[in-house]
Amino acid sequence: MLGSDVRKHIYDVVIIGGGPAGLTAGIYAARAAMKVLILEGTSTTSQITMTDLIENFPGIPEGISGFDLINRFKRQALQFGAVVETGDIIKIMKKSSGAIPSWEAATPGGSYEGLSLIVATGASWRKIGVEGEERLIGKGVSYCATCDGPLYRNREVVVIGGGNAAIQEALFLTNFVKKVTVVHRRDQLRADAVLQKKAFSNSKIEFVWHAVVSRIIGSKFVEAVDIKNVETGEIRTIPTDGVFVFIGQAPNTDILKDVVKLEKDGAIITDENMQTSASGIFACGDCIRKLLRQVITACGDGATAAHSAQLYVEALKGSSYGI
Ligand code: NAP
Repeated sequence: MLGSDVRKHIYDVVIIGGGPAGLTAGIYAARAAMKVLILEGTSTTSQITMTDLIENFPGIPEGISGFDLINRFKRQALQFGAVVETGDIIKIMKKSSGAIPSWEAATPGGSYEGLSLIVATGASWRKIGVEGEERLIGKGVSYCATCDGPLYRNREVVVIGGGNAAIQEALFLTNFVKKVTVVHRRDQLRADAVLQKKAFSNSKIEFVWHAVVSRIIGSKFVEAVDIKNVETGEIRTIPTDGVFVFIGQAPNTDILKDVVKLEKDGAIITDENMQTSASGIFACGDCIRKLLRQVITACGDGATAAHSAQLYVEALKGSSYGI
């Protein structure tokens, strides 16, 4: 029992990240009467805010933009009493002084202390880094076929990459588009055999081997790409309506590498309760090791992380919430 020993400025939970996972965790934790701080990054925005139209979020059959959906999540978190602040975390430290174990999250503008932490820092799509890519994001350049594929009905698109994501998404795109051109830098796919087999037998998919996209062309929207053969150096231009980049994802977990256990690719390892390897730290959303990175799964993780943090803090305090 901590009783009067509980320092007033300590939050019950500090949530790092203001995307779907972090905000859902905030809604659940605040609604459970926890003292909640959500820290949004200043330099990074949730990937979802870059999605024009989300058609697969249950309950919104008319679709919604990622930006609007995030604003709704935020309004709901604030409504239940969560505090939202802005700051980029530069360090996470365990506070060992005193009887109460807690965690401190430091930003350039100040530090925040929580009896528990929920990490919801998301992931960044790896970019190919060619001319036109940044400028045409959301205007034909996409990193999410599930989100944007239906917008390309009866059109032609280029998919870049040869891993599971590229091939699975190329197959998904064939449900809508007239033609998918997969551009891969080698002559062998990295994707699982079962996916390869499906792709090779799909008449809508054409492969361009030993090739990279060296430029994305378009004024307002994508119009064409330059494809460079990496063996001969030859460049040819092909017209296209969209470019889907699937060359891997990078979880935003640099600040956590000495704090919790990570996979080789940087994804945070959690159990089914979103507990990380460090007691009192939970993680959710795209930054964790998982199969399906979608808004709906991030929300589910966020709710679970909040509940786990609540149980953890209740056990620390020796009393339950909601009174
Ligand atoms: P990945 O497996 O790392 O594959 C990335 C692909 O992009 C590779 O083919 C790679 O080429 C290519 N690539 C990397 N950098 C490139 C660059 N600069 N320019 C051009 N091409 C480049 O990544 P992923 O496909 O996103 O998958 C990530 C993880 O999620 C994997 O573990 C994957 O198995 C898993 N996943 C599984 C499923 C499924 O099981 N259905 C679906 C999606 C993802 P090289 O082959 O030459 O290296």
